[in-house]
Amino acid sequence: RNQGIGSWPARRDRRSPRRTALLHEGRAVDYAELHDRCTRLAHALRGAGVERGDRVAFLGPNHPSYLETLFATGLVGAVFVPLNTRLAAPELLHQLTDSGSTVLVHAGQSAERVRELTDRAGLGTVLAVDGGPGTPYEELLAAASTEPVDEEVGHEDVCLIMYTSGTTGRSKGAVLTHGNIVWNSLNVLVDTDIAGDEVTLVSAPLFHTAALNMSCLPTLLKGGTVLLESSFDPDRTLRLVERHRVTRMFGVPTMYDAMAASPGWEGADLTSLRTLLCGGAPVPARTARAYLDRGLAFVQGYGMTETAPGALILDRADSLSHAGSAGVPHFFTDVRVLLPSGEEAAPGEKGEVVVAGPNVTPGYWNLPEATAAAFRDGGRFRSGDVAVVDEDGYVRLVDRVKDMIISGGENIYPAEVEDALLGHPDIAEAAVIGVPDARWGEVGRAVVVTRAGATVTAAELIAHLEARLARYKIPKSVVLAPDLPRNATGKLLKAPIRARYGTDV
Ligand code: ATP
Ligand code: MG
Repeated sequence: RNQGIGSWPARRDRRSPRRTALLHEGRAVDYAELHDRCTRLAHALRGAGVERGDRVAFLGPNHPSYLETLFATGLVGAVFVPLNTRLAAPELLHQLTDSGSTVLVHAGQSAERVRELTDRAGLGTVLAVDGGPGTPYEELLAAASTEPVDEEVGHEDVCLIMYTSGTTGRSKGAVLTHGNIVWNSLNVLVDTDIAGDEVTLVSAPLFHTAALNMSCLPTLLKGGTVLLESSFDPDRTLRLVERHRVTRMFGVPTMYDAMAASPGWEGADLTSLRTLLCGGAPVPARTARAYLDRGLAFVQGYGMTETAPGALILDRADSLSHAGSAGVPHFFTDVRVLLPSGEEAAPGEKGEVVVAGPNVTPGYWNLPEATAAAFRDGGRFRSGDVAVVDEDGYVRLVDRVKDMIISGGENIYPAEVEDALLGHPDIAEAAVIGVPDARWGEVGRAVVVTRAGATVTAAELIAHLEARLARYKIPKSVVLAPDLPRNATGKLLKAPIRARYGTDV
């Protein structure tokens, strides 16, 4: 009766009860135990008054209780709301009240923070995984029933409300159904060769779509092992890969950059890695190069919270021959690059990526206008991203429509200029923004962070760019910055960068 993801632990328990599902801080949870714990939590949630459609929020780092809460809410037909631990109290409060969550499960939070949220969000039930305010999670599980949970859940039922990264404005709650998550996981199984003996390292935060849906859930669907890390540390990651013979991982570009720059990089044995998936933000050429040069299958994926998230994926076999491309549409998903007229862009022509298929959200939570604006003719979801397709159908991301700079009538895509800047050995980080200009309307400005001991001058950087880019794309000024603000997905936060460096400096 349950066709949703809440049924996965039970289904796996029947097939591979003794395989390790989760490995966390030295403790292994096999599929039988995962099933048992999810069932108990589902009964406990019901005991606390949770009914079909009710929202259950989770606030904490990567931890088995995150996945148990996700599966347990799915078992009773309730809706899981993962919260971003990096948000400040008012932002969390907004997401708790916007989603109408009645239950909060928390881990790794200060008592003060939990108290502030519960007082102001009017939560009925608070479960404490590792101490602090609320009912102790483990005690609740120990006392709960292990009877099978009987609830009819179909693909059209809502599985989770996942908030977007908030890169371009306030985060929006994307409604994702069980069908969205199931079809995305099937896409990932078809297109990235996940095996039953997979050992997947998950250290990117599970409150974002990629770690959960491109990495963790497809591995559990297949009966592999998820090595769950509460936080990311580049050197520890390299050691974990060696120790556990990790076969697969997902990371945003900044994570892969940090690993390649860490002291353990040269000596690390990475031969067990079959697939290194990277996405979530523009992937600099130098990031991919570091891994491809070691003979590793470093592949790019592209997607967004609203498409659960997989839209494009590069096959392992194409990692070298199509380096820099985000690949082709996932098997069950239709991705096109459209001109403003609605016609498909010809090879080499820039257009907006639109996505249709069983993994695409039915819409945003509580935002009917944003939902209406997000779909164009025939229900295609508008990504807001610009891309080009080549003759063979491989797609290369260009940049976000919103970040485009128009200078003297020419369109400049900052990501392309940033990638060229990052190709300079003295540059650690780069952002390109538009600044007002009397003659050209707007001109580009490079805001760069140099590496320790760097000696590069603005003139040298401009010369470096002139050798690589058309003249109109070259920034008219270069500003040094101590660091650049990014969100948890490693994306540059252009709004604060514009506010700080966009006027006269
Ligand atoms: P918000 O919608 O709240 O402004 P966001 O779009 O950053 O935030 P996410 O859904 O986490 O929230 O991210 C999706 C976006 O990430 C895509 O629209 C795209 O801009 C970017 N992205 C994802 N993968 C890639 C990739 N491989 N290359 C370039 N950009 C990517
Ligand atoms: Mg977005």
